[in-house]
Amino acid sequence: MKCPFCNHENTRVIDSRPVEDKNSIRRRRVCDECQKRFTTYEQIETIPLIVRKKDNNREAYNRKKIEDGILRACHKRPVSAAQIRDLVDEIETEIFCNEDKEVGSDVIGELIMDKLKDLDPVAYVRFASVYREFKDVNTFMDELKKMLN
Ligand SMILES: [Zn+2]
Repeated sequence: MKCPFCNHENTRVIDSRPVEDKNSIRRRRVCDECQKRFTTYEQIETIPLIVRKKDNNREAYNRKKIEDGILRACHKRPVSAAQIRDLVDEIETEIFCNEDKEVGSDVIGELIMDKLKDLDPVAYVRFASVYREFKDVNTFMDELKKMLN
């Protein structure tokens, strides 16, 4: 993005945060040339995010996929729909604030596990067992022990 003061091409993002309506991101930028700071507002809809999967295939980011995975893990657990929505919001904030237009599905998976761990241990283990494709009881126990430590 060009600097509005000196027109220099190289500017850096120093801070990103979602605007209250959650449909845009406010970015503070600094110009490498004149060091002046300015603010941009970018619409989330205009920032296509690509998810890079394990097999290196790429697909458009889809919030529903994350929600579905979390819903399955939280089946019959004392977790409300609002909590799940907040959790997905937090994850989206983190991945959309990253200036990269591409994110690995593994990064998203780790973020989900990280947040589920605090929310509900059973949901966490369920999600981790699917996500990490536990091959046997031992890997499953290892993961449990890691969590309990
Ligand atoms: Zn400048």
